[in-house]
Amino acid sequence: MTARTRLVGDYVFTGTTTSEGTADEAGGLLAGGAVDIAADGRILGVGAPADLAAATPDGAEITLRNVGGLLMPGLINTHAHTPMTLVRSAGDGMALQQWLTDAIWPREGNMSPDDAHWGMKLGSLEMLLAGVTTSCEMYFFEDAMVEAVEQTGGRLVLCPGVIAALLPDGDVEPRIAELAGLHARHHNPDGRVTVGYGPHSTYDLTPDQVGRIAAQAREVDALLHIHLEETQSERQQVIDTYGRSATTMLAEADVFAGPVIAAHGVWLDDDDQQILADAGAAVAHCPMSNLKLGSGIAPITAMRQRGLSVVLGTDGVASNDNLDLWEELKLAPLLARGVTGETSALSAVDALQMATVDAGKAVQLPDVGELKPGSWADIIRIDLDQPNFVPGLAQDLLTHVVFAGSSAHVTDVWVAGEQVVADRSPTKADLADTINEARTRGTRLAEAVR
Ligand SMILES: [Zn+2]
Repeated sequence: MTARTRLVGDYVFTGTTTSEGTADEAGGLLAGGAVDIAADGRILGVGAPADLAAATPDGAEITLRNVGGLLMPGLINTHAHTPMTLVRSAGDGMALQQWLTDAIWPREGNMSPDDAHWGMKLGSLEMLLAGVTTSCEMYFFEDAMVEAVEQTGGRLVLCPGVIAALLPDGDVEPRIAELAGLHARHHNPDGRVTVGYGPHSTYDLTPDQVGRIAAQAREVDALLHIHLEETQSERQQVIDTYGRSATTMLAEADVFAGPVIAAHGVWLDDDDQQILADAGAAVAHCPMSNLKLGSGIAPITAMRQRGLSVVLGTDGVASNDNLDLWEELKLAPLLARGVTGETSALSAVDALQMATVDAGKAVQLPDVGELKPGSWADIIRIDLDQPNFVPGLAQDLLTHVVFAGSSAHVTDVWVAGEQVVADRSPTKADLADTINEARTRGTRLAEAVR
């Protein structure tokens, strides 16, 4: 006897498309489709209910839930520092370096593990309510972050950060020595937390340090998560110091020999893009953060033409100022079209894939981001009975989702088959309590630097 749940929608978008890259009833978008979820939280089947029923062994229990709406994979935020919810909007209007040293780092310097827990819990709920089921993080306070997502039900790719500028005498060796232990303690591919490695950047760490961290990551086949080419001045600083680009230098240190996600990539030149494409790395495009900090617009159309995987991230909320990946989902194609002058630069369906199936692969979760047998049932429901989704013809539905829809239309969310948001409310954690606690702690951090 296999306990299973069948979610029946008005439509199901699986995340896959036809060979032409479109999603219609021939590929990816199923009218009247359903998703069967096993008791272990993985997907058993996706398709027309009649077809699924035929494939069900005799005697299996099926709980039918006719939920309607559009069912699709949860969105994946590939670059975040979520406990920064406690310092949201701090230092707005300052130039990047002053912003870090005068507004952000003094507040973060006073952050306790308990603060990070509440900041992570708040941000995790903010993401789940927006249909963002996974975030790939670079931060500290690992135990507190894991505990927070265990309480909300979200999925976490935890990349413990290494920042020399925040350590006494810039000595990163004790921190580097901790990384393998953090991986061993928290990495659980059968659960909802996996662990990568998060060296901050090449303007903070030496090529040798990043190379040694990358070698550690490769030993356990873990993701390396690093900031790369966010600002023009950062690019110039690295070239002035080392005589070549950060990307060239990291390639020389064998950093791209394992899986890598590089955040931003705003100032990657043609050669850098080719190095990353050839290595199979991915760029976490964070257009909202890049615009807010005045960093520029990443050349993602050129990257994609080179075969470089581009996925989406919010970055920390002090530079965004929210964790609502739907905004990046809409902004990425708009910017790509505006910058190139080509409406074909990025389609709505391609943008959706960047936020789901491509993102799952980029953060080393190939079983996340796509609704297919064997994948985790990380699913969101979109309410189609809203003005924004009219007329709602099948051939336009996913364009509606990207350009007319928003996180406000996400009503229900499942992670590993467990419903973590029901009718726009978290099911596992108390939202009002979390807001109150995080507000008190964020206020204290702000007052300490006045
Ligand atoms: Zn960042």
